[in-house]
Amino acid sequence: MKRLLVLAAAVTAIFANAQTFPGSKPISFVVPFAAGGPTDRVAHDLAEAMRKSMGGGANFVVENVGGAGGTIGAAKVAKAAPDGHTLLLHHIGMASAPALYRKLSYKPLDDFEYVGMINEVPMTLIGKPQLPANTYRDFENYIKANAGKLNIAHAGLGSASHLCGLMWQSAIKANEAMTTIPFGGTAPAMNALVGGQVDLMCDQTTNTTGQIEAGRVKAFAVTTAKPLSGNKLLKDLPTLQEMGLKGFELTIWHGLYAPKGTPPAVLAQINAALKVALKDPDFIKKQEGLGAVVVTDKRVEPAAHKAFVTAEIAKLKPVIEAAGKFAD
Ligand code: ASP
Repeated sequence: MKRLLVLAAAVTAIFANAQTFPGSKPISFVVPFAAGGPTDRVAHDLAEAMRKSMGGGANFVVENVGGAGGTIGAAKVAKAAPDGHTLLLHHIGMASAPALYRKLSYKPLDDFEYVGMINEVPMTLIGKPQLPANTYRDFENYIKANAGKLNIAHAGLGSASHLCGLMWQSAIKANEAMTTIPFGGTAPAMNALVGGQVDLMCDQTTNTTGQIEAGRVKAFAVTTAKPLSGNKLLKDLPTLQEMGLKGFELTIWHGLYAPKGTPPAVLAQINAALKVALKDPDFIKKQEGLGAVVVTDKRVEPAAHKAFVTAEIAKLKPVIEAAGKFAD
């Protein structure tokens, strides 16, 4: 705690010395998905923690620019003024988009300054409450027995939910079994699932935990290699590997990015504030309660996060190509 206060004081001092940044203009976190979803949730929690870590000297707003699997919001930030006031808070879509979109209007590795990684979040495979299955095994059998009749919701091509659905359908050899229904984010997709208009979805625990706890959706499995700990309810869910899907592993991460050309001094201030925010016990508690793990290792450094995303792009390309679905 003492260490945290010392760090926060150091960041406050940096900001007090900076004449021009952040000034009175708010810092906008562009979330490339709908309000109320998992990425939005991370953005709101982080905005609060960073406001604190900047000694209350900065205002944050969260701007939701959903659509096309996160690529519309990312493109907006790539073209924004590089002054530190417009930042992109994105997830694994930063790395999956190049393989999924033949015409991507921005280059994830070239058109941004990397600020740092934020967290890692498992995904859960969930279904509408009316589904007859209660266990993963029954669920998979039900999907296969109803090939062609079911809908899987996702947040657009290249989104985490889309990627998870693709990987899972290909792992159970049911690529043609479901119709995919894209939404502007998994908040509206979740509403459709709870309402029974779509049948299933794979989404981050930062969106699904509350709905599972409230019994509004059925949960069948987690996508991590190891079972989850921490949350009482999530830790009883089987992993897809335990259910026989050899090597299946998908963990979503979130990171923070600025437009290319943002001054190094401004980037250093934002990164310093991010590091303090990631150690904020309130932020950690909120995120852990939703199954997320806050990153505190060297991946919070800009260069390390960029190296990580570079490796993720290379890792995801063959996975996506094997699943064989692309967008223009
Ligand atoms: N969870 C979403 C996805 O599937 C994005 C969101 O709405 O935050 O990518």
